[in-house]
Amino acid sequence: MRAMVLFEPQKPLIESDIPVPSLAAGEVLVQVEACAVCRTDLHIVDGELPNPKLPLVPGHEIVGRVAALGSNARRFAVGDRVGIPWVAWTCGECEYCRNDQENLCEFGRFTGYSIDGGYAEFCTADERFCVNIPDLYKDVEAAPLLCAGLIGFRSYRKTGDAKRVGIFGFGAAAHLIIQVAVYEGKEVHVFTRSNEGQDFAKSLGARWVGDSEHVPANSLDAAIIFAPAGALVPRALQSVRKGGVVVCGGIHMSDIPQFPYDILWGERVLCSVANLTRNDAEEFMRIAPKVPVRASFEVFPLCEANSALTRLRAGQLQGAAVLKL
Ligand SMILES: [Zn+2]
Ligand SMILES: [Zn+2]
Repeated sequence: MRAMVLFEPQKPLIESDIPVPSLAAGEVLVQVEACAVCRTDLHIVDGELPNPKLPLVPGHEIVGRVAALGSNARRFAVGDRVGIPWVAWTCGECEYCRNDQENLCEFGRFTGYSIDGGYAEFCTADERFCVNIPDLYKDVEAAPLLCAGLIGFRSYRKTGDAKRVGIFGFGAAAHLIIQVAVYEGKEVHVFTRSNEGQDFAKSLGARWVGDSEHVPANSLDAAIIFAPAGALVPRALQSVRKGGVVVCGGIHMSDIPQFPYDILWGERVLCSVANLTRNDAEEFMRIAPKVPVRASFEVFPLCEANSALTRLRAGQLQGAAVLKL
């Protein structure tokens, strides 16, 4: 099968002909129809995340059709449409798994990082971790929901009942989650440098848009940081009122500069979001078609995965990039 393969971090992916993966018990073989390109893929390719499987087929926002069933796989039938997200497997036995925090599993495996993902014609997945895709969405429309949407949603849920919500950075996750926030009656403030990003945020219902250099102090109930820039943490803390929460939604961030205790004091809370649970996926896929959440995306053929990554790195994408097989 055709695949785009990472042989060495900090080098471009190489278009390769590799064997169709073989099935283990409880797995499905999926013919990939679409796979969105996530910022995490970029962190892996750029060598910012440690110890990826090598060589590696990246990609963890996969929509495809079940092509074959492994032994004991019963959840789906051949031909069914499934989504495959970032969390590929958890142990079910560690302290975290037993306490409803499978996203923090000590032994978790991740699609397109510790096992091969969807920048290929086929991939395999543990059927228990596959996601049902609402009928409303075409394959390419659904792919960006599977990480940008799911992890963005987990970040958004951490803001609780906040009414005035700030979003720092306006990429793939932010443009999906703002739709849910506006649907739920939130007043969303978006901080992003680019004029296009600001216009885009306004078109999706942002109450206020502007540069993160000009954050009004104590004006928000909560803030979510999607941009991987540690310098935004003190700014976001300054923007929230006493008791407010600042959520870091990314898997990687540059160092956070030193800041005075004052801006954290007043029972402000700073937290991160790691991975997702199957419950997050189910909840998001229930609410997404009601909003309805619509992804903005640009389609690339599989062989142009490197240019999709380059455009993402340069901040030149509005919304998400999706590889169409
Ligand atoms: Zn576990
Ligand atoms: Zn992702």
